[in-house]
Parts: sequence; C-alpha cells; structure tokens
Amino acid sequence: MSIRLNNISRRFGATTALHPLSLDIKQGELIGLLGPSGSGKTTLLRIMAGLESPNSGTIHFGERDVTHVHVRKRRVGFVFQNYALFKHMTVAENVAFGLKARPRSERPSHRDIRERVLGLLQKVRLEALAERYPAQLSGGQQQRVALARALAVEPDVLLLDEPFGALDAKVRIELRRWLRHLHDEFGFTSVFVTHDQEEALELSDRVVVMSEGRIEQIDTPHQLYRHPANRFVFEFLGETNRLEGEIVNGVLTNGEARLTLPGATGSRAEVLLRPHEVRLAESFDEHAHLPVKVSAISPVGAEVRVELEANWMSDPWQATMTHHDYEQLTPTRGTRLYAHPTRQHRFDLDYAI
Ligand code: ADP
Ligand code: MG
Repeated sequence: MSIRLNNISRRFGATTALHPLSLDIKQGELIGLLGPSGSGKTTLLRIMAGLESPNSGTIHFGERDVTHVHVRKRRVGFVFQNYALFKHMTVAENVAFGLKARPRSERPSHRDIRERVLGLLQKVRLEALAERYPAQLSGGQQQRVALARALAVEPDVLLLDEPFGALDAKVRIELRRWLRHLHDEFGFTSVFVTHDQEEALELSDRVVVMSEGRIEQIDTPHQLYRHPANRFVFEFLGETNRLEGEIVNGVLTNGEARLTLPGATGSRAEVLLRPHEVRLAESFDEHAHLPVKVSAISPVGAEVRVELEANWMSDPWQATMTHHDYEQLTPTRGTRLYAHPTRQHRFDLDYAI
C-alpha cells in the first residue's frame, strides 16, 4: 500500500509539532523517520496510524483518502517501544487479540485464529513459548511477540515507533535484520521511527530526516550520507570535524591553520569533514597547512581511530586510518602531524543565517 501525505500539519497548543509537510511512500518501501527527540516523528507516525488527527492536509493509502478514517479501519499494524503486551494474556492470546476483537461478522473461526497465531509464532521463532506470559520473556522476545501481534491482522501498513529502543545493542541488531526479512517476505509498507542514525541507515530503503517539525531531507541511505542537503543533516548523520575561520585571498585561515578554498567569497567560512576524510602526513603542502597533535589512538577494529588536537579547533578532530597507513606513520600520543582533507563539505548558506 502506498502512503501519500499532503500538507500535513499539527499543533499542540502553542507548540507546532509539524509544519506543513508532504511525503510519498511507495508500496513495499521500508522508510525510517530519523531525527532528534521532539522533532515530530511520533506525531507523524500517529497521524499515519489514525491515532492523531492533523490540523491540515490529507492522507491517502493507495487511492483511498483515509484522512478521516478511524484507526481500526486503516489496516495498520502498530508496534511501540515499550512492547505494550497484555500482561495477563499468554503469548498466543496476545497475538490472537486483534483477530478476536473483530466484530463477529469479520472474525475468523477459532480454528483459523489458532492456525494463524501458530504460523506467526513460528515466523518469529517463538512457537515453544506460546503459553508463557510476557513477564517470563526477555525484552527481545517480548518485542517479537509485539510484532507477531501487529502482523496477525494482516496489515497493509506496519508502523513502528522506536521498536528496538529499549533493547541492548546485540539484540537490537538481531531484531533489525529480522524486521527487514519479515518486511520483505510479507511485502507490506513499513515506517519506523528512530533517533539512531546507524539503525536508520542500515535498515531503510529511504530515510526521512526530521528536525523541529520539518523534513530536512528524504533520500536513500547512501545519498544521504554522501550528499547531505544541509548542515543539520551532515552533523546528525555522523561524526563531524570542523574548521572555521576568516577568508584571506581565497584561503581559510585560523591561527596557524590555512586551507585553500576554491571559489570562497565573503569574510568567514566553515568547512566540515568526516573522520575518514582526514588524511594524516608528516608534511604540509600548498593547499593545506593544518598542524595537529595526536591526543589519543584506538587501534581496535577494522581501522585505527586517532584523536587530534590543535588550538585552531573548537573541538578535537577524529581521524580514521587504515592499519597499513598507521604502520607507515606510527604516530603515538603527542606526535605532531599535518591533516589533509580528502573531501570537504561547506554549508555556508546555513552558516550565514
Ligand atoms: P519525537 O517523536 O520526534 O520525539 P513528538 O512527535 O513526540 O517528537 O513531539 C513533537 C513535539 O510535539 C514536541 O515538542 C512535543 O513536546 C510536542 N507534543 C507531542 N505530543 C503532544 C501532546 N499530546 N500534547 C502536547 N504536546 C505534544
Ligand atoms: Mg517519539
């Protein structure tokens, strides 16, 4: 089922939770709503579900205008962060709940309900725990029950609000993969909310980055990371190194730091770069004179992480090196080197505001 939001807005008293925004989600897409706390993600998800009404705008599921359609008639499955299972019901009863709650004319027979519940519990690999109560399950297992329960009513659209937020790192990663599999197998359209950029980038077909009730960018994870639309998106998506200074004859200057900026105009500028976009060397060149001192080294993992300090920085920089480059240069704490940007990002328009 495709979802089309047109000009949706929402206020709560004096707070504008959502400024008018539009969003087209294709049938079968897995969409991540990513943004800091308070950016309007939950409000947007609840409006899609029909749990909240917008102050303006329309929502279509396929060709159907569902703007004023009740949540129960939208065919959505909903999963919350805090499991929200019924404590006094067994796992099987929890999963059956949505089917049993249907009006008699639409309710499947007891036998059909039992079969469907068992099938779903097999899918989420919990069939052995069907008669347990939620309190007897781990967090990850409870969240799998919550998913099975949401799927029982055969939703066209699956909406998840920080579904893995309360779980520890290892279980989160497992459940992420598993959500991706289920999504692909069932072929529904899914929208999930997260404030975790790694989760959004790993899981989503496209990510909607939100800030203060607005959509900042809608893109594939790759495009988002490579071509952030603005400074907010750049900073939100990963670690950021900053160099800010005066422009003197096309050279960005701050104390001893100098970096040629082709086409730079105006009096001040700011350059941002990711840790993997910093090359370290023993010498400077005509484009970059950025003296740094190594303040920490972490050789763990696929690459070596190096922290750099200099009095021209507002915050320490982070650089990543391959183990091969690290062994060529063999820096230790206190070693003085020069940084060379291999790629740099400028959002001067934002900066000027
Ligand atoms: P997020 O899920 O991104 O953290 P929310 O959608 O929950 O953001 O909230 C967006 C803004 O709307 C916040 O400023 C929040 O305080 C406000 N808000 C959300 N729901 C309500 C409500 N029921 N009453 C009053 N303010 C609300
Ligand atoms: Mg929220």
